[in-house]
Amino acid sequence: MLRAGIVGLPNVGKSTLFNAITKSAALAANYPFATIDPNVGVVTLKDQRLDVLATMYKSGRIVPTTVEFIDIAGLVKGASKGEGLGNQFLSHIRDVDTICQVVRLFKDDNIIHVEGSVDPLRDIDIIQLELNIADYDTVMKRIPKIEKKAKTAGNPEEKEEFEVLSKIKQSLEDNVPIRLMDLSDNEKAIIKSYNFLSAKAMIYIANVSESEIRTIESNPVYQRLVEKGQQESADVVYISAQIESELAQLDDEEKEMFMAELGLHEAGLDQLIRTTYHRLGLETYFTAGPMEARAWTFRKGMTAPQCAGIIHSDFERGFIRAETVAYDDLIKHGSYLAAKEAGRVRQEGKDYLVKDGDVMLFKFNV
Ligand code: GDP
Repeated sequence: MLRAGIVGLPNVGKSTLFNAITKSAALAANYPFATIDPNVGVVTLKDQRLDVLATMYKSGRIVPTTVEFIDIAGLVKGASKGEGLGNQFLSHIRDVDTICQVVRLFKDDNIIHVEGSVDPLRDIDIIQLELNIADYDTVMKRIPKIEKKAKTAGNPEEKEEFEVLSKIKQSLEDNVPIRLMDLSDNEKAIIKSYNFLSAKAMIYIANVSESEIRTIESNPVYQRLVEKGQQESADVVYISAQIESELAQLDDEEKEMFMAELGLHEAGLDQLIRTTYHRLGLETYFTAGPMEARAWTFRKGMTAPQCAGIIHSDFERGFIRAETVAYDDLIKHGSYLAAKEAGRVRQEGKDYLVKDGDVMLFKFNV
């Protein structure tokens, strides 16, 4: 499963947000998975299409898909030099696919800001620098080991690796994280196994005051954060960790009432989950029948047999074909049968690239 790691400076609201995540995870009905690791929160992705399918197929139960968040506490200035939990912390980031960085926008004189004032762009720079330094150290350790070979004829692999690492070294010296470098697919493949920290996709989570949440989009500090996000194609979402931790304890009906009171359309947490899902390159296909309606997560670009393999490896091994209808077509025609009569149900083979919203029925040999 792909994972997102929550990081941020101390006192920005990470634990408050993570508690909201784990509380809402505990409430998620029908989820056949109990986390034992207190640093992992598995949350369900809200998807109305699944509810519509369940009604259409009179499904006995609904199984939504999920996203996994990891709480990575302990990042302080100097982590790359061993301050705080230091390297231990950095190695936890290595294991995640996307970094969700909580930045503090809320003002509260009772809660100390480690840097003395509320300034999200400065906080982002502090964390980015730690990630860059950690990668720089990795590169500087590796380069001397391969340099000699790379410069001797007949070692194309070392030569290629040396060239990419030299490029990265320069970029990090210019304070540009790897994720913002213009690397070819081949170069990316060469460095994949390093799991560089600054190469990971980034989502900025602005933690804003309860009293400011409705007007936050016109707040100049928030606007600068959004601009930064646009410049580096990072997503920016805002939440009030405090509101989320209250929302997480309510059932759906109470939640809606509380949100209406606050003038919110969508819980920040749901928006964060959705953004993370897309940032991870994930999409959803469905299976539906009288027993259950279920959402399955796949990585964009996966073929029909690979998607079948998510349900069970036997489905992939014995894959014959997939009977597929796009969700929108199914809804337009009102039933599977009507969609079939209209020629909207397709028979797809092993090269078919599954699309978000496909309703799938796999045919396979056992
Ligand atoms: P962490 O160190 O980043 O994990 O931060 P915590 O989640 O422990 O939060 C630090 C303090 O800030 C706690 O006392 C929280 O109650 C408080 N806090 C977190 N989010 C908010 C918020 O949105 N508004 C206000 N006023 N306080 C918050």
